[in-house]
Amino acid sequence: MKAAVVNQAGDGVEVVEKAVPTPGIGQALVQVEYCGVCHTDLHVAAGDYGKKPGVVLGHEGIGKVVELGEGVHNLKVGDRVSIAWFYSGCGVCEYCVTGRETFCREVKNAGYSVDGAMAEYCLVEDNYAVKVPDALDPVQASSITCAGVTTYKGVKVSNVKAGQWLVVFGAGGLGNLGVQYAKALGLRVIAVDINDDKLALAKEVGAEVVINGKKEDTVARIKEITDGGAQGVICTAVSKIAFNQAVDAVRPGGRVVCIGLPPDTMDLSIPRLVFDGIEVVGSLVGTREDLAEAFDFGARGLVKPVVETCPVDAVGQVFEEMHAGKIQGRKVLDFTKEAHACGCGCAHHHH
Ligand SMILES: [Zn+2]
Ligand SMILES: [Zn+2]
Repeated sequence: MKAAVVNQAGDGVEVVEKAVPTPGIGQALVQVEYCGVCHTDLHVAAGDYGKKPGVVLGHEGIGKVVELGEGVHNLKVGDRVSIAWFYSGCGVCEYCVTGRETFCREVKNAGYSVDGAMAEYCLVEDNYAVKVPDALDPVQASSITCAGVTTYKGVKVSNVKAGQWLVVFGAGGLGNLGVQYAKALGLRVIAVDINDDKLALAKEVGAEVVINGKKEDTVARIKEITDGGAQGVICTAVSKIAFNQAVDAVRPGGRVVCIGLPPDTMDLSIPRLVFDGIEVVGSLVGTREDLAEAFDFGARGLVKPVVETCPVDAVGQVFEEMHAGKIQGRKVLDFTKEAHACGCGCAHHHH
């Protein structure tokens, strides 16, 4: 099978031929249909989290179960499932049993600690692969599997209620979905970015107010619109300025949720936190339950990721474009073309 893996030097991506894996106990084999390309894939390929030569990349995978290992009870052949960054947890630790499984210390991450979904086939765990609703387009589902659930969870963690104000810092791929989820939940949304095109897109999908941080006094505007500051912020932007503005943009008791991964450390005024009871918290992807909920919004047409498919062999080029910040929306590798390339369905028999 064709697979996009971390190269042998551990500093980039390459497409190779690999054997189709065999499902073990409690595992199922999935024929991958689509896999989105995420910034995290770039970091893994570059070795930013440690060198991982040979590992199959990809954690925005969607595909159909084609074979079951022993002891599989939840999944059946034909089920459409997702392959997410949260691949599996231990199931018994304090995090796993209290709805915080993404923080499990034994966690496995697809496309990093285990082979991911940028291949014609991949393995999933029976108890962990979240099913994709039939009503949801599988290309869009791929984007919800990471970017969607990450922003949906961020909005939940913000604790902002319907009718209250949430500011979304950064209106790129993540931010755009954040606006959509917040809107679907009945929140009033302000989007902040320095790119007018991205702001126009944010407005289109439900931001009540958009602010260009380069042209306007962001904090002053937010305070004016929200009568003293927003109830919450989700920060997808990775700049220091945006982060500092995010902390200044909430009202007393407000909460700043960080979901982007800035390379720098940030300044944080502790007196500001103390005097105004401000909370700054991190939020990491989402649990299985969060993902099922995030899919449901998509299936009901309330959230529509901006996606574009491309051939698997273009993965190197997509990585470069993404690194250069040239991509609007999400690029999704299309494996359906691979499987049916010869027209005889023989891909099913490669293993
Ligand atoms: Zn991702
Ligand atoms: Zn655990």
